[in-house]
Amino acid sequence: MNPSSAEILPDTDAGHVRAADILRTGGLVAFPTETVYGLGADACDDRAVARIYDAKGRPSFNPLIVHFADPETLKRHVVWTPEAELLAQTFWPGPLTLVLRKQPDSPISPLVSAGLETLAVRLPAHASARAVLRAFGGGVAAPSANRSGQISPTQADHVVASLGNRVDAVLDGGSCAVGLESTIVGLLDKPVMLRPGGITEDVLAATLGRHLAIRHKAEALSAPGQLMSHYAPHAQVRLNATEWQPGELRLGFGDVACDLNLSESEDLVEAAAHLFDYLHRLDAQKGKVIAVSPIPHDGLGVAINDRLSRAAAPREG
Ligand code: AMP
Ligand code: MG
Repeated sequence: MNPSSAEILPDTDAGHVRAADILRTGGLVAFPTETVYGLGADACDDRAVARIYDAKGRPSFNPLIVHFADPETLKRHVVWTPEAELLAQTFWPGPLTLVLRKQPDSPISPLVSAGLETLAVRLPAHASARAVLRAFGGGVAAPSANRSGQISPTQADHVVASLGNRVDAVLDGGSCAVGLESTIVGLLDKPVMLRPGGITEDVLAATLGRHLAIRHKAEALSAPGQLMSHYAPHAQVRLNATEWQPGELRLGFGDVACDLNLSESEDLVEAAAHLFDYLHRLDAQKGKVIAVSPIPHDGLGVAINDRLSRAAAPREG
């Protein structure tokens, strides 16, 4: 027996409404899409998004795709382009994710895109996913509903086995059509294939009337300023600060006097929820150094420390 505490919701109107209610109160709901089961949270709720990373046990903040029921709601959060319109008209709803510039006033949590100024968005085709998204009304951030390193779930049982104690509810919509992941296309300056998937490059190229650049992983990792490079503050970042030096901007954790406190009660989910917002806010004060209290290296602390040590690493170029 799996000691699951997740509510299992039926794939009915009542189940969809209940799923939306749980999302609205900051809960995590797993639901089927045409690719795999997704682990969903209200994309505008910092704490709910932090709970996704906590539940998955990811060692780093990999940015998440935000799912919508309708293009009108989606377009409020991104800078829409003619090529986005062309691809959306042709392939949505469906397994295509577009990475676009985020609207500066979008209320989507900065944790969703791990501090990047871009946003990955998609309109899934799966009827149950659409029903939940429609009932909810806003954007739902959803990576695959499995613990980090485990295989992607294509049935409600898989989700329960992997995340039964970490998710509030699982909408049981049967098996996902054995899913390839969604194809991810970046549309920032020129179209770039960021991840191959269900929709192939030649089909996309035929629609756009030009080929897509292919992003190679190694290239992206070694090229700061590129799509996948992570947000780095302008200030230097000093880690494990147990006392503050004069002039430093102080990012605290726990019972310390500081400029902004990630979590006075040492709650790592709260700390993750604040992380990108607070780094941005301190950086906007244009000081030389942001000093950060030690963060425990367990649970979500691993991903928080990963992010902070990248921010503290010497810059290239
Ligand atoms: P998954 O949620 O497991 O389907 O993975 C989401 C994928 O989308 C990851 O490969 C992310 O790196 C990618 N992704 C999400 N947001 C962005 C973004 N803003 N820019 C580039 N890639 C992104
Ligand atoms: Mg996955």
